[in-house]
Amino acid sequence: MATTSPRDPSIIIVGAGVAGVATAVTFKRAGFENFVILEKGADVGGVWFWNRYPGLTCDVPSQLYQFGFAPKADWSRIWASGPEIQRYHRDVVEQFGLAPHLRLDSEVTDARFDGRAWTVGTADGHTRTADFVIAATGVLHHPFIPDIPGLDGFGGEVVHTARWDDAIETRGKRVAVIGSGSTGVQIVSALQPEAAKLTQFARTPQWVLWAPMGVRQPRLFGKALAAAPALHNLLYDVSLWASGILADIVLRPSWRRRLVQRFARWSLRAQVRDKALRERLTPDYEPLCKRQVLSGTYYRAIRADNAELVTERIAEITSSGIRTADGREHPVDVLVLATGFHPHNYMRPMNLRGRDGITIDEAWEKGPMAYRMTAIPGFPNLFTVLGPNSPTGSISLQYSAELTARYLTRWLERFRDGSVDTVEVTEEATARFNDEVAEAMGPTVWNTGCNSWYFTDNNTIDLWPFDRKTMTAMLTEPDDRDYRVTRRDATSDQAAAAAPAEQ
Ligand code: NAP
Repeated sequence: MATTSPRDPSIIIVGAGVAGVATAVTFKRAGFENFVILEKGADVGGVWFWNRYPGLTCDVPSQLYQFGFAPKADWSRIWASGPEIQRYHRDVVEQFGLAPHLRLDSEVTDARFDGRAWTVGTADGHTRTADFVIAATGVLHHPFIPDIPGLDGFGGEVVHTARWDDAIETRGKRVAVIGSGSTGVQIVSALQPEAAKLTQFARTPQWVLWAPMGVRQPRLFGKALAAAPALHNLLYDVSLWASGILADIVLRPSWRRRLVQRFARWSLRAQVRDKALRERLTPDYEPLCKRQVLSGTYYRAIRADNAELVTERIAEITSSGIRTADGREHPVDVLVLATGFHPHNYMRPMNLRGRDGITIDEAWEKGPMAYRMTAIPGFPNLFTVLGPNSPTGSISLQYSAELTARYLTRWLERFRDGSVDTVEVTEEATARFNDEVAEAMGPTVWNTGCNSWYFTDNNTIDLWPFDRKTMTAMLTEPDDRDYRVTRRDATSDQAAAAAPAEQ
């Protein structure tokens, strides 16, 4: 491999959530420090910064929901709360010295490739240039506000769970929650005890697996892990391995899948004795088909005297409540929209233009697509981390983000040694990968006949249908045959070498 003058690639990482932090630390540890992280929010943490609704808990055990490079021994609970996870992200930023790289309140509005480098603009009017852009913009970020007649004319308070307003008082109020996904279930459990009345509007019931989400992690256990890092690492590796069982359960039919599905049915039967209520809580699709909901408190909350489950369709929102299709009026003081997200937006609505001015909307006309979750034809030197087909719900997101970031360092190394100036994945490789994905989706549980946020408008399933071993194999060393690489002549290399990442 020919080596010219060593160059330090300048990099812009967009987003300081799980993916952005994993990328920044991985780059830094690999010796790439010429990067800036542009974060739209006022703090790091991504989804854990934006979501602060009452009852927010991560349904992945804390000892697994952490970065491989930043083990935390002393989680206070087995399933950590949202605020504790956000604090963890802040601690990681400090521990790995990311603060000087971080620009908060910096929303990227546009990014353009000019054939050599990227120019990135933020809402505050700043423009920066970089050799590489990493879009670590998350999946569940843009709140979905349903188009229900009358919503604008509601006289009480309205709040979407992903933009919770701490000033809202729900105690002693008549609270309505629209939505029955993971968020709806958590917020119903949290608000019911102190509400005057809690009404949940559930268009589609969800299976809710029983799990003791409030259990504390014993202090001694945390101390033992802190005192024995090797043991802690082992626990992490075992947790990763165990999560492979979950991946197997969702990816192909087996007795293990049937066992978990039986447990879901039992969770409902055992906790809801009232037959009529149970019937209305029973989904008409297989457990695990939608993103599985876990809770140890939801069924108790919805059975409570001050709670009501409404499965009748919402006809309209009036100034004082909700009217259902049966003509019934439900008076409401506080309306909580637990209605989910636009999960397939990724970096949009950013005005992103790649080679020859192609926009991301043009490139994704048939739905979001990336080669191995990270590379998009038409967008040289731009990569996504936790991009399309990321494994939300099967493999650890932190593992996937770190793996992808390490894979990207291979291109950064080649840029640095002068053997690559621009790198762009080919259309063919991307199409081939997406064909493999479509085929592998066949036996997955997500494809068994439910309607979930996993589906794109083009009816593809935007998830990772392979196991962790396959992911690791795909994202260890780039396959040159799948990429188009350009290299400028040595003179222009020298000129490019001096460009700093930060202005
Ligand atoms: P979601 O799963 O997309 O659920 C949205 C809910 O809103 C659904 O029940 C949906 O009904 C309902 N809805 C949407 N529009 C409606 C309308 N016009 N009328 C009535 N109902 C309407 O969203 P989410 O609960 O926020 O969860 C999204 C994802 O976030 C989860 O699946 C999970 O991946 C993640 N999450 C994770 C945790 C965690 O603990 N790790 C916690 C919360 C969220 P239909 O089902 O009929 O469409």
